[in-house]
Amino acid sequence: MTSWETIIGLEIHAQLSTESKIFCGCATRFGDEPNANTCPVCLGLPGALPVLNRRAVELGARAALALGLHINSTSIFARKNYFYPDLPKGYQISQYDQPFSANGELEIMTAERDEAGHPIEWRPKRIQITRLHLEEDAGKNVHEGLPNVDRYSYIDLNRAGVPLAEIVTEPDFRSSWEAYDYVNHVRRALQWVGASEADMEKGNLRCEANVSVRRVGDQKFGTKVELKNLNSVRFMQRAIEFEVARHIKTLESGGRLTQETRLWDDKAIETRVMRSKEEAHDYRYFPEPDLAPLEVSNEFIERVRSEMPELPDSRRNRFMEEYGLTFVDASQLVSDRSLADYYEATAKASDNPRAAANWIRSELIRELEAKNLSAAESPVVASELASLVRLIDEEKISGKQGKDVLVEMFQTGKGAQAIIEERGLVQLSDTGAIDSLIDEVIAANPDQLASYRSGKESLFGFFVGQVIKSSKGKANPKLVNERLRTKLLG
Ligand SMILES: [Zn+2]
Repeated sequence: MTSWETIIGLEIHAQLSTESKIFCGCATRFGDEPNANTCPVCLGLPGALPVLNRRAVELGARAALALGLHINSTSIFARKNYFYPDLPKGYQISQYDQPFSANGELEIMTAERDEAGHPIEWRPKRIQITRLHLEEDAGKNVHEGLPNVDRYSYIDLNRAGVPLAEIVTEPDFRSSWEAYDYVNHVRRALQWVGASEADMEKGNLRCEANVSVRRVGDQKFGTKVELKNLNSVRFMQRAIEFEVARHIKTLESGGRLTQETRLWDDKAIETRVMRSKEEAHDYRYFPEPDLAPLEVSNEFIERVRSEMPELPDSRRNRFMEEYGLTFVDASQLVSDRSLADYYEATAKASDNPRAAANWIRSELIRELEAKNLSAAESPVVASELASLVRLIDEEKISGKQGKDVLVEMFQTGKGAQAIIEERGLVQLSDTGAIDSLIDEVIAANPDQLASYRSGKESLFGFFVGQVIKSSKGKANPKLVNERLRTKLLG
C-alpha cells in the first residue's frame, strides 16, 4: 500500500466590478439583449483602438492589495493569439511576462473536514501566488434558446472586453479542502473591498483546478488534469476529490493517465473529458502595440489603499482582542463584510460584545439564512438586536423569552420593547413565586431527587429545566439556580 500526495494549483478569473468594459465605453451590464453592448473596439473591427479604463486598474489594485500582493510599477499588455469564434480580434488582450503583480504570497486559514463536512482544526497555510494580471474577457457562443440551433451557432459579444483579474497560484495545495478554503478566502477578499461581486453562480468568478497525484517522496509531478465548469466552491471541492480518487485508482491498477481538460458534471457526480491536450498551446504572445505600458505610481497605490475598508483578517484579530471572541467565533463574524459591520454595531450599542456575538451566531444567522438575506438586509437592525441584548442583561426578560421575541421581531419588524409590552412579557423574579414552582417540581420528581441527593449532580440541569418550563420560560434563571441549590439540599 503506497500513500499518495495530492498536488493542486488554481486559476481564478474574477470579473472586476466596473460599469464599462476595460478598453471601450460599452456597458458591462449582465442580461441585456445579445450584442447590445458592443462597439468597434470590443467587436474587434479593423482600425479600432483600445483605451484603458482607469477604474479597472483601480479595482485590479484593490484586488491585489486585498490579497496582500505587491503591484508592479510597470506592467505590459500583450496579445494572446488564438482562434475561436467568440474572439473576433483573433487575440485576447492580456498580460504576459510583465504582469500587474507577480511572485506574491498569501496566508489562508484552512482545515480538513470530518465526514459531515465540519472543520476539524484550523491552521494557517501560505500559498505562493504566481501572478495576478489584468485582461479582457471573450464573448460567448450560444447553443440554445434561439431559432434553428441545430444548424446555427450564435455569438453574443456583450461579455467581450469585460475586465478580469486572473489570479494564478503555484501547485501548493495538498487537499481539496485547502483549495476550497483558498477560493473562499479570495472570494471574500474581492467582495470585501468591492473589487468583484465574485459570485460563482453568476459566472463573475470562475475557477479552474490543475490536479495531479504522486507517490509520497517523489519529486516529479504526476500527469495533470485541468478541471473546468466548477460553478461553486463546493463543486470544485467535489470535482477534485473525484479526480484524486480516479488518478489513484488508475495508477494503482497499472493504468496510465492522459493530460486533458475535464468538465465537472454535478448531476452525474463525475468528471468527463472535454478535450485532451497533448501539446501545450503556443499563443505567440507579443506586446500590444496599441496600448502604452501601464505605469502605476506609489501615490496611486497609497490612494487606493486609503480608500479600502479594514481587511477581514485584521478585523478578525481585532474582534478577538477588543471583544474577547474566540478564533472560530470571530472568523464566522468576518465571513462577510456586512455581517462584520452588523456585529460591531451590535457589540457597541449593547455594551455586551460576547452576548452580541452569541445572539448573532446562534439566532440571527439562522433567521437570515432561512430567508436568504445578508446581514445588511436584516429586518432586525443592529440597534434593535442590541436593545434586546440589553433587556436580557437588565433581567427584564429571560434569555428564553428573548429567543421568541427575536423571532417575532424578525417576522414583524417591531422593536423588542414594543413586543415585550404587547405580549405582557416579564421575567419572573419574585422569590416566593419561584420557590413555590421549585417545590412543585421537587414533589413531582421524587426519584430524581433521591438520585441527586445520593450524588448524581448532573441532575441539577434537569431540575432547572423543569422549573423554567413550568414558569413557561418566564423564571429568572439566575434566581432559579440560586434557590434550587438551597432547596435541593433539603
Ligand atoms: Zn465596446
